[in-house]
Amino acid sequence: METAGALSVKAPSDAKVLFDGSSLDAWTAGGDKPAPWIVKDGVMIANQADIRTKESFGPMQLHLEWRIPAGREVNGQSGGNSGVFLMGMYEVQVLQSHTNRTYPDGTAGALYGQTPPLVNATAPQGEWQSYEILFHPPKYEGGKVAEPATVTVIQNGVVLHHSRRYMGPTQHRQVATYPENHPATGPIGLQFHGDPIEFRNIWVRPIGEYDAVK
Ligand code: MG
Repeated sequence: METAGALSVKAPSDAKVLFDGSSLDAWTAGGDKPAPWIVKDGVMIANQADIRTKESFGPMQLHLEWRIPAGREVNGQSGGNSGVFLMGMYEVQVLQSHTNRTYPDGTAGALYGQTPPLVNATAPQGEWQSYEILFHPPKYEGGKVAEPATVTVIQNGVVLHHSRRYMGPTQHRQVATYPENHPATGPIGLQFHGDPIEFRNIWVRPIGEYDAVK
């Protein structure tokens, strides 16, 4: 796709704001370890470790914006890589995918290691990108998966996935499968993959349980 425009959407009044440009108070590096990311000029910059929200979420609408710093050298999965981990285990990939070839299920917006996006809607390096993510955890009945986790992802106003099923929590070079026991909620994670990826305007709205239209 030649052009797609990032959407900066103000947090609605019922949203839980996870980052408004001022502090990492909503985030941790796990347990009581403080999030070591850098806050500068209203932006948070990936640094040292993966981080996650202190609070846990199940079904949700998540908005966030990300940017790969301009001028940074990228090559495949190196140089411009991060990720959003829903419930701490289902990754939506963040990558410089504008001028950077890699395997299809490792590109920006891919359900990493499982499903490539419908289209490459990634704007040039150095520009802000937006993700709107609608996520539903899997439903279990009698110890078995009755409905897999599903996700809708819109990048820069363009649909990448519409109620797409996760095969299971994200794995690296392994076929994903669902565990026997699955929590009802989990933290939202952001990946530190060695690269100073920037994030801003992060908010979430729990959307509760409902039966999807079938
Ligand atoms: Mg990643």
